[in-house]
Amino acid sequence: MNILVINAGSSSLKYQLVDFNSNKVLARGLCERVGSDSSFHKHGVDDNEIVHETPLRDHEEAMQLVLKTLTEGEHAAISSLAEIGAVGHRIVHGGEYFQASAMIDDDVISKIDELAELAPLHNKAALSGIYACQELMPGIPMVAVFDTAFFQTLPQSAYMYPLPYEYYEQYGIRKYGAHGTSHRYISERAADILGENLQDLRLITCHLGNGCSVSAIDHGHPIDTSMGFTPLDGLMMGTRCGAIDPAIVTYLMQKLDLTPQQMDDIMNKKSGLLGISGVSNDLRSVREASESGNERAMLAYEMFASRVKKYIGQYLALMAGCDAIVLTAGIGENCAKMRRMIFSGLQPLGIVLDQEKNKHRGFERIVSSDKSEVTIIIIPTDEEYMIARDTYEIVRAQRQIVRVQRD
Ligand code: AMP
Repeated sequence: MNILVINAGSSSLKYQLVDFNSNKVLARGLCERVGSDSSFHKHGVDDNEIVHETPLRDHEEAMQLVLKTLTEGEHAAISSLAEIGAVGHRIVHGGEYFQASAMIDDDVISKIDELAELAPLHNKAALSGIYACQELMPGIPMVAVFDTAFFQTLPQSAYMYPLPYEYYEQYGIRKYGAHGTSHRYISERAADILGENLQDLRLITCHLGNGCSVSAIDHGHPIDTSMGFTPLDGLMMGTRCGAIDPAIVTYLMQKLDLTPQQMDDIMNKKSGLLGISGVSNDLRSVREASESGNERAMLAYEMFASRVKKYIGQYLALMAGCDAIVLTAGIGENCAKMRRMIFSGLQPLGIVLDQEKNKHRGFERIVSSDKSEVTIIIIPTDEEYMIARDTYEIVRAQRQIVRVQRD
């Protein structure tokens, strides 16, 4: 079955067409700056990639272009839309409604819409992607895969904030987590690599990219995660501050006469690596600046590493140890220096990085020393694969139910 995976961001639309039975990616691409005059489209089949600038007014236009490119011209991957068996949509917020991926129907759509209050840009963008597919590929089964679903089984003591209880009841103020699909993928892969059953393992999974989160996965179930009510909480990130003393927010708003939106912008877009270094949100540029003596860039580097280390410490305590620490995403997969700083000095806890194995970048491998009690594993994440797999399984199960009912 060919599955089209759609990841619609506020101004972007990423896609991947996967032949799930042979586990082959037939095409992938991206529409960027949707809704602006400078939008462009990248599309690739194997190593053959095209990029062209083209005005894309909204997600429906982007979706139209994607479907046309997939089926027509020299870069086509299939000959007609009938070859697409199902569509899987990445949805950022599933609130407390969704503990797993779900077949999209009117009820699911209205819940995604209702939850847009908690993730306005993302859920609205995902809905645009869903509506565009309904319009352009009527009748095709679609599945929603939620970033938050993996963390819906967190214990209540982990997901509640120590605020008046009624705010949870009335406004849904609680930890939802994010990057759930990535944490789920790397925890499953880690168990495969270790040749163990996931239910027998205690894992700490670290997604360190532009957005960053750490999770404690205890015998197959997440018991805590660093992102919270929104993806602003937890680690220091590219432009996000992560956890800070909440009193700073009201203090700065009063002191600088800031609106809630201005304060939100400061914490989401002007903080993190960018805010501290003053150089960039991109760790590569921060590293270059720090290596040429920029002290604020050096400080940003140290702050980032120390925050990851502190979460690892918290989760080691929560699970009374762990079997493996898994790293993924741009920084986790590629930055040997950051890994060195995160794991430095942890030998007394049985965590020893192998400096030689740590040197390389990007591919799936173990980087801990043979004498390390805790295995450190790098696993490039594959959220698209998980979305395709959930979509395949849900659509196949639905078809079986229909077949049984018919017989
Ligand atoms: P992602 O959001 O997963 O694309 O990750 C983006 C982050 O990964 C950015 O901060 C990049 O600077 C960082 N990154 C990517 N490649 C490298 C590299 N080779 N060395 C250090 N950081 C990297």
